[in-house]
Amino acid sequence: MSTVTAGQEEGPLGQPRACPSVACHEGASLLGAMTGSGRLAYLPMPVLVDAAFADRLEATGRPEGRYRFTGPCSEGACPQWTGTDCGVIDHVLDDEPPSPSAGALRADAPLPTCGIRRTCRWFAQRGAAACAVCPTIVADTGGTATYRSTHG
Ligand code: SF4
Repeated sequence: MSTVTAGQEEGPLGQPRACPSVACHEGASLLGAMTGSGRLAYLPMPVLVDAAFADRLEATGRPEGRYRFTGPCSEGACPQWTGTDCGVIDHVLDDEPPSPSAGALRADAPLPTCGIRRTCRWFAQRGAAACAVCPTIVADTGGTATYRSTHG
């Protein structure tokens, strides 16, 4: 069970906000797997990644390009933190070019069943619009420009 670092924003019931795209590491949880269509298939509930599982995933290439992982939002310790918000979801929603498949990404479409909505950082920040693009977001390019969306 993770604890809240001093100053970190809490979700309901005192839980830390959950990042829906942490790096693969022991102690993270598997959120879902990218499908051939470029959309994430969410697990009903995240599954804890132990050391052996992390090693297996890393043995076949960067797991973040094929899966998404969740863990506590580290806010100021993350290069994507703007000082007040997560820059990843703002970038995807505000800066990415309009999608040719925008009809599939409408904010009023049914929300994905992801298992972390109560504490999700992106949902707390941008609501259903975040969930509409969330299945298309991949963390695989490294560095600080770590994220791309498959919907562009
Ligand atoms: S679907 Fe919505 S609540 Fe779930 S991880 Fe993605 S942004 Fe967060």
